[in-house]
Amino acid sequence: MLLYFYPMSFKKVRVRFAPSPTGPLHMGGVRTALYNYLFAKKHGGDFILRIEDTDQKRLVDGAEDYIIESLAWCGIEIDEGVGKGGDHGPYRQSERKEIYKEYANQLIESGNAYYAFDTSEELEQMRNRLKAAKVATPQYNGVTRETMKNSLTLSDDEVKSRLASGEPYTVRIKVPRKEEIRIKDIIRGWVVVHSSKIDDKIIFKSDGMPTYHMANVIDDHLMKISHVIRGEEWLPSTPVHVLLYKFLGWEDEMPEFAHLPLLLKPDGNGKLSKRDGDQLGFPVFPLAWTDPQSGEKYSGYRENGYFPEAFLNILAFLGWNPGTTSEFFSLEELINAFSLERVGKSGSKFDLEKAHWYNQHYLRAKSNKELAELFIPILNENNYTADVEYVEKVCGLMKERATFIPDMLEGKYFFERPTEFDETTMKKKWKEESPSIIADLREVIESIKDFTSDNIERNIKDHLEKHKISIGLAMPNLRLLTCGVGSGPSIFDVIALLGKEETLSRIDGSLELIQKQQPVN
Ligand code: GLU
Repeated sequence: MLLYFYPMSFKKVRVRFAPSPTGPLHMGGVRTALYNYLFAKKHGGDFILRIEDTDQKRLVDGAEDYIIESLAWCGIEIDEGVGKGGDHGPYRQSERKEIYKEYANQLIESGNAYYAFDTSEELEQMRNRLKAAKVATPQYNGVTRETMKNSLTLSDDEVKSRLASGEPYTVRIKVPRKEEIRIKDIIRGWVVVHSSKIDDKIIFKSDGMPTYHMANVIDDHLMKISHVIRGEEWLPSTPVHVLLYKFLGWEDEMPEFAHLPLLLKPDGNGKLSKRDGDQLGFPVFPLAWTDPQSGEKYSGYRENGYFPEAFLNILAFLGWNPGTTSEFFSLEELINAFSLERVGKSGSKFDLEKAHWYNQHYLRAKSNKELAELFIPILNENNYTADVEYVEKVCGLMKERATFIPDMLEGKYFFERPTEFDETTMKKKWKEESPSIIADLREVIESIKDFTSDNIERNIKDHLEKHKISIGLAMPNLRLLTCGVGSGPSIFDVIALLGKEETLSRIDGSLELIQKQQPVN
C-alpha cells in the first residue's frame, strides 16, 4: 500500500481589525470589522481588536470606547484584544513601544533602514528643488537619499555624535531601487508595484514611536495574523509592508491580503465621507457622536432607529453578495454564506431606499411585544400612556406602515382623540349628506354586540350595501371622525381596538368639532 503525505501547512485563521482611535468609526470601518469577523468565524478562527494609536497627536478622547461600543451594538464579538485581553497582548500599540525599537535597530543593522536627520526645512527645500526640476512626485527615495542628511551620507562618527547629543531623527526604510514587488490580493489578484514608485517611508521616530507601517507589520507577525483584510486605501502601503516582512526575515509567514472596495456616495461620485451622511439623510456612523473638541454632532444608525440586524445586512451587501437571490441574513447566516472571493473589486454605492427596506423588514419581523417595549419609551416622551397589552395591539396594526419605531406615532390617535381633521380628506370627502350617513353608521356601530373587526366590517358593509351608500364616501369619513387622519390600517381593526364606547364618543365629539370648524362642501 502506498501512503501519500501531503505537505500541509495548517495556519489557524487569525484576523484583526486595527482602527486608529482618531475619531468615531465610519460605517466603512464597521464593514471592515464585519468582513474580518465573518471570515474568522467561517473558518473557526479568531477576531482580534488592535488599537493603532501610534500617532499620539491625532488621538481623540472617547474614540476607543466608541469603537468597542459600536462593535458590541452590531453583535461583532472580539475574541482577543483591547477590552478583552489574550495571549498576544498588549493590543494597544502605544503599550508596545519597546518591541518596535528592537526591530528598528535590527533593520538598521541589516542595512535595510537608516537614520535620517533632515529638518523639516531641509525636506521642504528638497521637494521644491525637485518640483523646479519638473519631478511630478518629489519624494525621499533611492535617488534623493544620496543628497540628504542621513546615515548613508554622513560618516559613522557624525551619526554617532548626532545620536549621542539627542538630535531628533527618523528611521527610514531603504527601499531597493529596482525591484518588482508582487502582492497577491485575494480580491484583486496580483498587484505588482515597482520599487522606484515607493519612497523611503519613515518607520520609526526619535520619540520612540514607530509609524503605522512598522507597527502594523510587526504586530501582524507577532499576533500571528493569517489574513489582513482592510480598506482599499491601504493598498498603496502594502508594498512597503511586503518589503518589511522580507527585511525582517518573515517572508514565508507573511499574511494573505484582501483589500476591500470603497464605500461610495449614493450617486457613485466619490467616497462616502463623514460629512455626507447627515447632508444626504442617513447616518455615516454606527452610533451618534459629538466631537469632543468642536462640539459638532453626527447622527448614528442606532439613534436613528436602525436595528443592528438591518445595519449588518446593509453593510454585508455593500461590497459582497451571496451569489443567490436571498437578501436577509442573520449574523449566523452571514457567517455561513460569506467568502472573500465574493467581495467585488469596485466601489459600492450606499442605497438609502434599500437601507430603509432592510429596517422595515426587521421591524415587521419583531413580535408585537418586542415592538411595544421599544415604542413605549417614545410614547412616554410624547406624553402618551397606555397599558402594555393595548400598545402591543397598536404595534400589531401599525408595524406594516413603519420603517422605524417612531413612525408608529402616526397612530397617535390610538392614544388621544382627534381635534384636527386631515384637510385633503375633509375637502374631498366631507359632503352635505355626510352627517346623516355618519349618524346612521353610528347606530349600526352601537348595535353591534360582539365588537370584533370582522363583525364591524360585516355590519357596516351590509348597511352600506342595503342603502346604496358608497364605501368610498362613508369609510374615509368614519376614519376622519375617529382618528382625524385620511389613511391608516384597516378602519375596522382600528375601531375594534378603540372599543365601541370610545368609537361612539369620538364620532360625537368630532361631529361637534367639525360642525363648528368647517362648513360642508
Ligand atoms: N490603523 C489603520 C486604520 O486606521 C489600519 C489599517 C490596517 O488594517 O492595516 O485603518
